[in-house]
Amino acid sequence: MTLKPYIRYDQISRVEGGQFVRIMDVDSAAPMLEQRSVNESMKITGCEIVVIGDGREIDPDQGGVEPLPILTVQTDEGIQGRSEMFRVPPGVARSALLGKDSFFGSQVIETDLLHPEAVWNRLYEHMLHSNRRGWAMRCLGALDIALWDIVGKKLGQPVYELLGGAERNPFQTDHSKCHRASYLTPYATIVSDTWERQVVLKQQVERCEQLAEEGFRAFKVEAMHSSLQTAVDLVREARKALGADAVLALDVGYGYNDHASALWVAERIEEHDVYFFETPFPVDSPEPYTRLADKTSIPLAMGEHACCRWEFVEMMDRGSVTVCQPYASNSGGLTECKRIVELVSARGGLLIPGNWSTQILGMANNHLAAYSTVSPYMEYSPAQVYASPLRAELQALATPVVSGRIDLPSQPGIGIEIPDDLIDRFRLDL
Ligand SMILES: [Mg+2]
Repeated sequence: MTLKPYIRYDQISRVEGGQFVRIMDVDSAAPMLEQRSVNESMKITGCEIVVIGDGREIDPDQGGVEPLPILTVQTDEGIQGRSEMFRVPPGVARSALLGKDSFFGSQVIETDLLHPEAVWNRLYEHMLHSNRRGWAMRCLGALDIALWDIVGKKLGQPVYELLGGAERNPFQTDHSKCHRASYLTPYATIVSDTWERQVVLKQQVERCEQLAEEGFRAFKVEAMHSSLQTAVDLVREARKALGADAVLALDVGYGYNDHASALWVAERIEEHDVYFFETPFPVDSPEPYTRLADKTSIPLAMGEHACCRWEFVEMMDRGSVTVCQPYASNSGGLTECKRIVELVSARGGLLIPGNWSTQILGMANNHLAAYSTVSPYMEYSPAQVYASPLRAELQALATPVVSGRIDLPSQPGIGIEIPDDLIDRFRLDL
């Protein structure tokens, strides 16, 4: 028996005596009281961390995959859940999750698998007296995704269905034929191999053009380590190359420390219909953001490294940020991102999942974007324009981009399986 679409996992089950008890028949809505436990015979037996990457000394700004811990959570039923751990040092990942002596492992290994949200809440409370943010939250986020992967596989459902499904209001999207999103739309993040002005302008525009020919409809160019004038020129040239219909955003990678610089750029790119202006300032203070938001019509975006819902609330409410870009893993997992969706939605913002990592994260993000009603796009770092063998192989394992769109996930769980031989070939001894 599998759960049907549209039915929320937490609406049809409740915890009773440590088990999930199914309380409603999905087809007839008749009470069933059939015991259908996720956890009855399922225990978390261990966690494993392997590190993969294109090499030990990779410049991630050029598109290579830097050392990337991969978490595997094992159960006594043989079902495994996986997540990547973007920019978590391998030693941190191990000390957080490996073995009964580790920070989180001590709380979950050899315990019953509960609803991922119940685990999240329990582990967050475990952090209250030590470390509620930073790498600990990234480790919790990865664990949460791995647990959703396991639960989805156990129930035979893609995770987004368990988060709440992909219903859409037909008045608010262009998926109006079916009230249900049938695809996701990635935006391509474009960087250049180096940051000299001529390389930035030429290579990034060429990469936009290549991807537009492949069908991509949305793009973000990056004027990092660049002058203010280069940022403006890059947007103008990309817009000219892509035409009026393409979605185009700008990221300057926390490039400005003063309000005047960011405003100078914003005023000059407004005429090029910029979808969002990402991280003009460091994100430690919301005040520069809100001052800029007062002066420009371009939505301000941040959140690629933001940690749990509180940082987004701070930047939305005090920084006037309207585009939130959580990574499903780094920001605290799908459980936490689901909460962020509600907070963003209540403020009239957008949640556009971030991903300058691989399609292991991308597949987790797909479930978030499918569930979210405020996520018209999500970030995608296309392997076809970067020299990264690992990025390419992982992208080939994920749901492909076809005509600029990605189908909703259809496999149980997160929906990406990583072959052992791939791990062996890209394993780094770290
Ligand atoms: Mg960025």
